Amino acid sequence: AVADSLYVINSFASKFFDEQLFNTEDGQAIAMSYLKERGFREEIIKKFQIGYNPQSRDTLAKALIANQFNKELLPKTGLVTVRNETELVDNYRGRIIFPIHGNTGKIIGFGARVIGKAEKAPKYINTPENDIYVKSKILYGSYFARVAIDKADECLLVEGYTDVVSLHQAGIENVVASGGTSLTIDQLRLVKKYTNNLTIIYDGDSAGVKAALRGLDMALEEGLNVKLVLIPDNEDPDSYVNKVGASGFKDFIATNKKDFILFQLEVMLKEVGTDVNKKSDLVNQIADTISKINKVEDFTKQQDYIKQCSAILKIDEGGLTTLVNKYKR
Ligand code: ATP
Ligand code: MN
Ligand code: MN
Ligand code: MN
Repeated sequence: AVADSLYVINSFASKFFDEQLFNTEDGQAIAMSYLKERGFREEIIKKFQIGYNPQSRDTLAKALIANQFNKELLPKTGLVTVRNETELVDNYRGRIIFPIHGNTGKIIGFGARVIGKAEKAPKYINTPENDIYVKSKILYGSYFARVAIDKADECLLVEGYTDVVSLHQAGIENVVASGGTSLTIDQLRLVKKYTNNLTIIYDGDSAGVKAALRGLDMALEEGLNVKLVLIPDNEDPDSYVNKVGASGFKDFIATNKKDFILFQLEVMLKEVGTDVNKKSDLVNQIADTISKINKVEDFTKQQDYIKQCSAILKIDEGGLTTLVNKYKR
């Protein structure tokens, strides 16, 4: 079937990219030196099978053709593109390659990063949707994280590939990445298979937080306990763990972990100020959010939130309860 062939091509390509990184002059001089400069050590590069696609126009394409892979199928992988109707050229030229593993460990796609600053070209190119790469169902790193998630009974969620790899290197292995977009229901269900506790660790910039907030109601409906940690301005988990070290990072997470519902409330309360209408909107919104915790076993959790939120909002607890029940239905 198509899916099987795609797996075989990806596996071949990944070995090719490893070979290019470890055993070619350019791979060492251009790609490995960049990775080392960023603080990635060989052990972790091997574990995540990070590789390199050379700069020239069709090194991979030639290797694929020489190995008699189905020419019609090849463009589906996103690794190569058809030029001038018959010619195949590489898509990820001069890029660092992050293979993306499915839940069983097979490679379903790739993220390809420019080396150094992204000036004109996009920083990352990702595999297009195909029979085996369905973006909305993927969490990068899930294959490497599942045992640690199970053990910690907590899943850390970050934005990027390099965040996952750097945290692993620091010994924090219960971590997966969303790819910077808002969470989907399928991704949340994947987390839920391993744990009820999701801790979102996002870049301090507002784009990241807004993306995370969009997933909150869905996460609550799935019965997940959601916590949030914001990384200081202009840092992300990768840069921050490189700056403060493994134990510094763990301390930071432990001290700055916030309950997501209460965090949302605090952020919005600041915006409301003394505006009475805005406050009424906020009370409704919070009641709606709390009503999403609708699992029977979560009844006490809901009671807890009503108590805490009404205190923060300085409103009557019974009134908030009534409103929550109105939103439940
Ligand atoms: P690096 O540390 O290498 O700069 P990053 O992960 O910190 O990478 P961000 O800009 O924070 O990069 O983006 C977070 C994630 O969003 C990336 O890891 C990648 O999955 C995705 N992403 C970023 N830029 C693009 C892009 N231009 N196209 C597609 N996906 C992207
Ligand atoms: Mn960001
Ligand atoms: Mn980042
Ligand atoms: Mn980064």
